Amino acid sequence: MQTPRPRYSAAALLRARFSRHFWKPLWNPAKPQDHYDVVIVGAGGHGLSTAYHLARDHGIKRIAIVEKNILGYGNVARNTTIVRSNYLLPENHYFYEDSLRRYEGLSRELNYNVMYSPRGVVDLANSDDEMVALARRGNAMRLAGIDAQLLDRPGLVRFAPELNPYLPRRYPIMGGLVQRRAGTVRHDAVAWGYARAAAALGVDIIERCEVLGLTTQAGVASGVETSLGHIRADRIVFAVAGHTGAIGTMLGIPLPVETHLLQAMVSEPIKPLVGSVLIYMYGHAEVYITQSDRGGLVMGGALDGMPSYTREPAWHRLEEIVQSAVALLPQIAGVKILRHWAGTNDQTMDGSPLIDRLKYDNVFLNGGWCYGGFKAIPASGAACATLVATGTAPDLIRNFRLSRFASGHMIDEKGAGPYPVRQ
Ligand SMILES: Cc1cc2nc3c(=O)[nH]c(=O)nc-3n(C[C@H](O)[C@H](O)[C@H](O)COP(=O)(O)OP(=O)(O)OC[C@H]3O[C@@H](n4cnc5c(N)ncnc54)[C@H](O)[C@@H]3O)c2cc1C
Repeated sequence: MQTPRPRYSAAALLRARFSRHFWKPLWNPAKPQDHYDVVIVGAGGHGLSTAYHLARDHGIKRIAIVEKNILGYGNVARNTTIVRSNYLLPENHYFYEDSLRRYEGLSRELNYNVMYSPRGVVDLANSDDEMVALARRGNAMRLAGIDAQLLDRPGLVRFAPELNPYLPRRYPIMGGLVQRRAGTVRHDAVAWGYARAAAALGVDIIERCEVLGLTTQAGVASGVETSLGHIRADRIVFAVAGHTGAIGTMLGIPLPVETHLLQAMVSEPIKPLVGSVLIYMYGHAEVYITQSDRGGLVMGGALDGMPSYTREPAWHRLEEIVQSAVALLPQIAGVKILRHWAGTNDQTMDGSPLIDRLKYDNVFLNGGWCYGGFKAIPASGAACATLVATGTAPDLIRNFRLSRFASGHMIDEKGAGPYPVRQ
């Protein structure tokens, strides 16, 4: 049984100043019960958001989230916090736009500040051909009612003065495509906010409990075998991100997924320099840069390139990302990197997600998030919860079925979002 949590407000925070008992844990650790209506495996962003929507939108009472580690230890708190909906294809852009809209109101909805910062995300072009490709993407977005603005070189420098055209830059920048409502959201606040809201609705959050297998009875799944014993469940949802392939192995069905490392890094704090999110790709190199509230430059690039579960980032990729960053912003050449880390991503073979039934009628997969799944968390949770509760996939996720790999209806969003490994 969860204890009620206080509602945060300016007055409540003022009262808290004089009270010893205001601050409560955001959720109470739960012990597994014998039986649940729904068991969700994985307390990352997608598992937590699915649990919250199952409880809030569909009134399902007995829900457990089972996490092998501690909540938020996975990719949900390892990412570079970028949220956007600047996709080319309708299969993706309506879904990600739904997610961005939900992010815009998430702090209020969860009564928890997730620090949504619409600072703008700009994709940069360094050739005329790339400007044409960006214009095509921008037009597709605008036709779908999503904000997009193509900037020529002077317009870009007005938007991002750090791209000072007089600095000696190795590759010219011709312009960019900006989505102004896109930006960043504090990643661990998203995990904590959903966990707090789900717990308040009665969801059991069971940490340090690994799911080791699935039990079946008369052709349907009947529960999960865990490191804390067997848990019976009417429905089971796997939202394990980088471990999606391992779940396929567990169920005896190979999934079109490879687990790859993606790394990110942060520099020492510097004065405000980068006011938006800059995304820059040239040739094989790639970098995206944003500046944190504490002043560190947060940077990421392409996948490390070798399937792995280790979370040990490769040095060659670190070097490549830093070189790209300096090619883009020569003024940061003397800045030191403070730390870097990696997460394991479940890369599908078309770079788009999988939200579908998995082998059994009452088992569901919410995965294949590649390296772009943070921005999808609010929409994925709402849509996956509808699928689990009603048995019917909402239109927004109809294209994310597993069967697209058998029928050849892949979602080929290359160059405009998450894509499979490019070697
Ligand atoms: C360095 C990096 C930068 C990124 N940057 C961005 C970005 O800027 N924008 C963006 O949109 N996306 C980004 N991503 C991708 C995004 O973080 C992921 O796609 C998304 O977080 C994955 O979903 P999740 O949050 O549910 O995953 P996770 O947080 O990884 O949750 C899955 C959970 O399942 C648990 N689990 C696994 N197996 C079991 C088991 N057998 N039993 C119990 N529990 C289990 C894991 O311990 C884990 O906690 C980035 C990823 C990385 C690594």
